[in-house]
Amino acid sequence: MLRLIRRHLRWKLFLSYMVVILIGTVVVASAAEFAVPAAFERHMAAMASSMSADSEQLELDLYANFHQATTEALGLAMLVAFVAALVLSLFISRRVVLPVQEMMAASQRIADGHYDERVGVPGGTSGEELDELGRLAQCFNQMAASLQQTETMRLELIGNVAHELRTPLSSIQGYMEGLIDGVLPAEAETFQQVHREADRLQRLVHDLQELSRVEAGAFELKLRPTPVSRLVETATARLGRQFEDKGVVLETDISPNLPPVQADEGRIGQVLLNLVGNALQYTPAGGRVCIRARRQGRAVLLSVHDTGIGIAPEHLPHVFQRFYRVDKSRSRAGGGSGIGLTIAQHLVEAHDGEIQAASAGPGRGSVFSFTLPVA
Ligand code: ADP
Repeated sequence: MLRLIRRHLRWKLFLSYMVVILIGTVVVASAAEFAVPAAFERHMAAMASSMSADSEQLELDLYANFHQATTEALGLAMLVAFVAALVLSLFISRRVVLPVQEMMAASQRIADGHYDERVGVPGGTSGEELDELGRLAQCFNQMAASLQQTETMRLELIGNVAHELRTPLSSIQGYMEGLIDGVLPAEAETFQQVHREADRLQRLVHDLQELSRVEAGAFELKLRPTPVSRLVETATARLGRQFEDKGVVLETDISPNLPPVQADEGRIGQVLLNLVGNALQYTPAGGRVCIRARRQGRAVLLSVHDTGIGIAPEHLPHVFQRFYRVDKSRSRAGGGSGIGLTIAQHLVEAHDGEIQAASAGPGRGSVFSFTLPVA
């Protein structure tokens, strides 16, 4: 019962009104008990002095005096009950209205951009169970915290994008200034450098667009039973030439009798291309890259193994974060924006799969693997 009252405002209000009524009743009863006889006696005494009147008049007077006496007593009772109701309602409105007003003011300040705004949680300090108001304040604070986090991420993203755009733009500016001043020769090599930087900008903008699309979930998956071998073949066909050019061996190792996976062929092709492309980029000539596919319970595990530069353990947990690059200059030289793995992670998770990175350490190769549900 106590628990019920503590958790529900409704019961608290009900209880408070009950208290008011109880006080009223007690006051009326005590007034009838003590005040009425005293008042009645006083009026009877006044009546006795005019006893000359006849009996009918006496009856009338008696009633009028009794009525006056009760009215007096009830007036007193009502005054006390009114004061009690006033004090109680003030107390209740303080407990109910003040937190609501505080939340209204805080939401206004949040709307004005002050995302660090929080409200006090009524009953939150006493360690007892919270009522609806306490829980509302708690939810309000959670909402404010998540808005603040979104805002921080937004600012961070703008900062990152600005930073990423600055490098190629200042390179282009540098080349152009060199050309204008005649420091750089106006020949094909110089123009190719400018073209490469413009190309990098284009790729960055494309990746950003893709990132915003996958982060907002604004893409549709056309899930179909897809043979794993076809996914792997598409990737090897697309990148085979580049592997040959760099002198890195590309192998495949697919378990026989693998069931088809439930996947959007285009999207998963994009993920695989990103992983195999990274493996090629971070593996020096003479190295090997292997795409493997194995059954793993109700899923198929696809993994890309390389004998490349590897990843130090302290960097491993961050490689899926946006714009994270272990070696900024090396990645940038290869046109990397640090967004590819973030997009890959979103796409794999949209397929109810999981993506992971592993490495035995710098210089000892890396393994990127992801799962896809069996169709
Ligand atoms: P990028 O476009 O820079 O390659 P990604 O998001 O694809 O961006 O990868 C993030 C970072 O993870 C890379 O900059 C690189 O430092 C690291 N990385 C990714 N794949 C490999 C790999 N196969 N071997 C070593 N490091 C890798």
